[in-house]
Amino acid sequence: MPETNRQVLLKRRPNGMPVPEDFAIVDAPLPEPGDGEVLLRGIYLSLDPYMRGRISGQRSYAKPTELGEVIEGRVVGQVVRSRHAEFHEGDHAFGGYGWQTHSAVPGAGLTKLDPKAAPISTALGILGMPGLTAYAGLKTIGQPKSGETVVISAASGAVGAVAGQLAKREGCRVVGIAGGADKCRYVTQELGFDACLDHRGHLDSALEAAAPKGIDVYFENVGGAVQHAVYPRLNDFGRMIMCGMISEYNDVEPRPGPSLVAAVRKRLKIQGFIVSDHAALRPEYLAMAAPLVRSGALKYREDVVDGIDNAPAAFIGLLQGKNFGKLIVKLGDDPSRA
Ligand code: NDP
Repeated sequence: MPETNRQVLLKRRPNGMPVPEDFAIVDAPLPEPGDGEVLLRGIYLSLDPYMRGRISGQRSYAKPTELGEVIEGRVVGQVVRSRHAEFHEGDHAFGGYGWQTHSAVPGAGLTKLDPKAAPISTALGILGMPGLTAYAGLKTIGQPKSGETVVISAASGAVGAVAGQLAKREGCRVVGIAGGADKCRYVTQELGFDACLDHRGHLDSALEAAAPKGIDVYFENVGGAVQHAVYPRLNDFGRMIMCGMISEYNDVEPRPGPSLVAAVRKRLKIQGFIVSDHAALRPEYLAMAAPLVRSGALKYREDVVDGIDNAPAAFIGLLQGKNFGKLIVKLGDDPSRA
């Protein structure tokens, strides 16, 4: 058991693409759990695009991380000491404790995990927030129907991979967009999408060929040039699931937006959403997805980086498309995988 808690703090608000100097890595005293709390040893930390918004200080749907604070993040870990009746030493649990190796947290905010039901890291990806985001976006906004064409950007990523596989199960033609040949190969050969287009190539002509009947549903994860290529190809009554626009998160100046005149002419429905609005869908998503993950019918890929000291560089890589699959930092030993 180490004596200290290693943490990553926000040192400076990034200007454009974050750089390592925006983060500070420090050792703090190991926290003591109070009444009703447990001391959790982190095993996996989830790195997600939304963190770019939190460290920017912009007013949003969630409170920003302040300078000097531990950066927010979801963690899967193991209980080291418990002062909560329902948690015992050795239990695996999940919650939002930030970029640090240890935390003393109220048991009431923890979710217990059963390592026999699924690998514990899936609580951060396919069976966690990103998986639910894909499900909620499709169910409440996209509503894909058999025979329709669905386009999904950041298709090899945590959200896109699930969204595409679920749309395939509805009988749609599913076209992914991803960065590079390796990711595109994975998206078609492993995940079973009908096609995958490299956004570094000529996206306009590639979309014309891959979606000859136009696009009925666009699951928007990227924005920018990708959105500009997809948007004019939306069919009448198309649905655009406004999930995220990662290519614009580091913009310093606002860019000129697409002309939304066509939204009127084509009677498009363009709707944004935040996954936390749809927490009520979690049980139904898990009931559907967990057996499919166990049987291998729903596939996922994790990109695991070793050690909290590498979290800032891995997060910067995420904003540049360097991750391949759900990005997770390994904070400590995982006895469930021994
Ligand atoms: P990913 O695992 O897909 O990782 C991010 C990926 O984005 C990169 O791997 C890269 O893939 C792509 N990317 C990064 N920069 C660029 C760029 N400049 N141009 C094009 N592609 C880029 O992340 P998630 O699946 O976790 O998140 C996907 C999206 O969903 C994000 O926009 C995120 O903000 C959003 N989101 C929204 C939620 C909500 O509640 N609305 C909840 C969760 C996520 P590639 O190399 O293939 O381009």
